[in-house]
Amino acid sequence: MKERMMVLKGKTHAAIGAVSGTIVAVWVEAAPFETALLALIGSVSALVPDLDVNGKLANSITVEKKWLILFFTVSGLLLALYSYFMLFGVNQITGFLTSIGLLLLPRLFIKQRTMLFLTGAAVVYAGWYIQQNWLIYTGLFILFASLVSHRTWTHSLIGFWLFYFVAAEISRTYLLPGLLPALLLSYFSHLLADMKLLPANKKGIKFFYPIWKKEF
Ligand SMILES: [Zn+2]
Repeated sequence: MKERMMVLKGKTHAAIGAVSGTIVAVWVEAAPFETALLALIGSVSALVPDLDVNGKLANSITVEKKWLILFFTVSGLLLALYSYFMLFGVNQITGFLTSIGLLLLPRLFIKQRTMLFLTGAAVVYAGWYIQQNWLIYTGLFILFASLVSHRTWTHSLIGFWLFYFVAAEISRTYLLPGLLPALLLSYFSHLLADMKLLPANKKGIKFFYPIWKKEF
């Protein structure tokens, strides 16, 4: 509870992101529909740094836990049947052990973070399958965010730089004027809003993580 009070909520970040997207829209003189689109994109992009925590965005993009457990259970049972009827010797034993793993491990280890990791992997695979680089980059960023601790990498200049590659690839695919600056400004607005400078924040941002761990 205390931890929740110390950081800005997703809603606030999304609102600031929407304002950032709108500022860019005004700057590029976007039409009303494109303005709304940039505001929406800005609100999502401003939530991205908090993918490193069980935040709003992490929950909404993560595949539901029970469905993944069901997926692994069905895969495990199919593999067990396949091993029983089609495999022999060492291969059969390996097949059975793998199916037991598929049945048991997800129940033991699936937490929000694990789910986020699997979602990232699924997005990378989907991007590779439909040959969309921006989707691969997005998936890689989700994977990265699922592995690091909260308020470190994704809240640093290095995180912002890595996000730049994702944003650049998205803007190369979707030719919406102002898309790149909207994505970047919204992401950066999150870092600014998390700064210790603001009285709402007790913890700051380590802009130069991991080189210099000073909080700003
Ligand atoms: Zn944050």
